[in-house]
Amino acid sequence: MSLADHSANPDMLPYPYVLSDLPGPRSAELLARQARRESNARTYPRRLPLAIADASGSFLRDLDGNTFIDFLTGAGVLSLGHNHPELVRAVTGQLARLTHGLDFPTPAKDAFTEAQLSMLPPGLRDRMKIHFCGPTGGDAVDAAIKLCKTATGRGDVIAFQGGFHGSGHAAMALSGLVRQKQPIRNGVPGIHFFPYSYCTRCPLGLVPETCGTNCAGYLEQSLHDKNGGIPLPAAVILEMVQGEGGVIPARKEFVQRVRALTRELDIPLVVDEVQTGCGRTGTWFAFEQYDIEPDVIVASKALSGIGLPVAIIMYDRRLDVWAPGAHIGTFRGNQLAFAAGAEAVRIMRRDDVLANVRERGEQIADRLAMLPKIPWVREVRGLGLMWGVELADPLDGSPATELAHEVQAAALRRGLIIELGGRDDCVVRILPPLNVTADVVDTACSILVDAIDERCLVAA
Ligand code: PMP
Repeated sequence: MSLADHSANPDMLPYPYVLSDLPGPRSAELLARQARRESNARTYPRRLPLAIADASGSFLRDLDGNTFIDFLTGAGVLSLGHNHPELVRAVTGQLARLTHGLDFPTPAKDAFTEAQLSMLPPGLRDRMKIHFCGPTGGDAVDAAIKLCKTATGRGDVIAFQGGFHGSGHAAMALSGLVRQKQPIRNGVPGIHFFPYSYCTRCPLGLVPETCGTNCAGYLEQSLHDKNGGIPLPAAVILEMVQGEGGVIPARKEFVQRVRALTRELDIPLVVDEVQTGCGRTGTWFAFEQYDIEPDVIVASKALSGIGLPVAIIMYDRRLDVWAPGAHIGTFRGNQLAFAAGAEAVRIMRRDDVLANVRERGEQIADRLAMLPKIPWVREVRGLGLMWGVELADPLDGSPATELAHEVQAAALRRGLIIELGGRDDCVVRILPPLNVTADVVDTACSILVDAIDERCLVAA
């Protein structure tokens, strides 16, 4: 198996190695220049204060020579790690032939399309068409909703609390994060938020014994109610695992009831697989594990495997109502991303990377299983190679935001890059490359557990 190692960069140390203060002097210089010149909206370098020199496999090196395990992986885009040598070869081979092709057919695009459709379950595969959108996940979400509105002639959309679908006007409007929307007037109208099955903080205040998946029941009742206030919507958009929302895998019964309801009322179900797609959860798409078939699938992030931007929607042929040119965009023909993406799928099949996702996922579950014994750890949860540790005040259950920031900083000092998410950023998240080795997972889990131990001890 060609695992995420150092083959692209033999001089990089095969373990994390942090010698300087963070940021080191050379990183600090670039960070300061960046702060002077770039938007105040910049995010990651505020909490992960480093300037990147180079990277390879699961590892990343800063300008001061510190080497980190990278379990942020470009927010989940680097499914085969940094600079996978075979993907680099595919990209450089394509580079001299053609880089940009609008929406003209090319051999690279044809192979990519074939690879994407081949990942769908049989049956669904034959019913789906594909549309290439602008290159981000948010662009694809926007396209999916626009398509459903066109196809149904309706205007309202159902989204879920805690969900995240992007930062543009429409995708942001569909997302739960109130703080982001609050300063912006005249947002996209007609979006209604319903509770998601976030059982550890049940939005309906129920406990497991009395649950009855009432979050799904509430949606059913609202859409059936002639006085429910919501016209029949154009779409329901749902994440199988809320990633930015704090790594919350939906309950199977919740998803199945949403699917049954949307079928009954003939509402297209849009599944946002921007983060969960391309094998992240141990199957090609997360919806497979819920035994449902969506009407529209949104995918982006890891499609190229190497971080080159590309986004698609795949949708049931009955929704193929757009007139020619109804949804255009310049950057829909990234041949480098297509070449890498087709190669990434080939490598994943050859190396049975999905099995690695499942095995490494179990390894992480085992390694982190003792964490809930710590009073500040509310829950450890995940699917495949998407994991989160939710931190909360043991006295009143409030999100332990400051503690999560401290854990992130403590992990970084030990050589592990991790992300935060969830309500008030109280969930420590990891998104390893899908071909990560058992050794790297082991080292990373030790660092994470030590960081949580250390900071929780201080907080106690
Ligand atoms: N949907 C989901 C589920 C996501 O996780 C994200 C990004 N984190 C997006 C959409 C938006 O993707 P992008 O940032 O590429 O617009």
